[in-house]
Amino acid sequence: MSDRRLLLTPGPTPVPPEVLHAMAEPVIHHRSPDFAAVFRDVVARLREVFRTQNDVLVFTASGTGAFESAIVNLLSPGDRVLAVSCGEFGTRWQRMAAAFGCEVVPLDYPWGETPQPSHLRESLAASGAGTVFLVHSETSTGVVSDLEGLLAVCREAGALTVVDAVSSLGAVPLETDAWGADVVVTGSQKALMTPPGLAFVAVSEEAWRRRETGKLPRFYWDWAAMRKAQEKGSTPFTPATSTVVALAEALRLLLEDGLEAAFARHVALGRACRAGIKAMGLELYSPDEDRAAVLTAALTPEGVDAVALRLALRDRHGITIAGGHGDLVARLFRIGHIGYVSIDDIASALTAVEEELVAAGVELEPGVAAPAARGAFGTAAAA
Ligand code: PLP
Repeated sequence: MSDRRLLLTPGPTPVPPEVLHAMAEPVIHHRSPDFAAVFRDVVARLREVFRTQNDVLVFTASGTGAFESAIVNLLSPGDRVLAVSCGEFGTRWQRMAAAFGCEVVPLDYPWGETPQPSHLRESLAASGAGTVFLVHSETSTGVVSDLEGLLAVCREAGALTVVDAVSSLGAVPLETDAWGADVVVTGSQKALMTPPGLAFVAVSEEAWRRRETGKLPRFYWDWAAMRKAQEKGSTPFTPATSTVVALAEALRLLLEDGLEAAFARHVALGRACRAGIKAMGLELYSPDEDRAAVLTAALTPEGVDAVALRLALRDRHGITIAGGHGDLVARLFRIGHIGYVSIDDIASALTAVEEELVAAGVELEPGVAAPAARGAFGTAAAA
């Protein structure tokens, strides 16, 4: 068993040492001036990251909870919701809306495909749905959608939008206000470089207006109660105070470098990881494009078990990567390059994959993946 612990899943993600130190500070009370100061700073910085002037609400929850808050604040039983899915998370939101008694109009793609604005336009016209659910980065496949194009279609049709940006915000460009997204949901544990436990919802004026008509019951998730408490520098219920303190540090680090630098780093890491995978002769499953900068998904060679590969990486190299789903569970693996991840991390993971494939009897030239990755990273970083 290796002593090393390298977390290269698409969430949770590694956390910078400064953030871990902040997490270890003495616990503060959530109705104290100390907390109010940190909390106000966090909310202001989150607005910068969302690129919005709208309210950003902070829930102690995972991303799924924050998405549920959107459903119970905006919708009523029987409301028609068009929910786009090209993977696990799109389907989760369809199931969630159905669980609350909404009429779900699915716009489904085979897993791994990229949603098209033209299809959305047709589905919206045919269904007349007043609300649309979109997933920006479908973490189960690595597809990052043309969110700007999809949102433009929704605006044309006058539909309210709820965007799952759980694995995208802070990794790839997302302009909440400029692209006209009504509600954007994300979590602390991905590109925001913070441990799991907090989730955020940006809410537009239009969404606040819609909330007035939503008839689903709400209590913990009530946006109005949260906004009222946040105006006083707190939350209605006890928040994960230490995680808020850690997040303040993570957002400071992120914004000190700048969002554009973060986006460029993710593009470079994505290029690097794909270059390494291709150099090994493996088949990419995630799209071979710069926009797919959140994670790289690939297939093992025929006959090589991806589950065994992941276990070998964990047990012999101390590297945790993610697996696949459904029919692809035996072949698919996913390497996350979100947040606090370096080219050295990616090169190590690729070298470990290469070593384990050779050990499994795959004929490949060892030692090619890391140099290919470093070369692609260097070229991207210099551009
Ligand atoms: N949406 C996407 C795109 C995700 O990647 C995830 C988590 O991996 C979620 C939603 C769910 O978030 P959570 O596990 O924080 O509830």
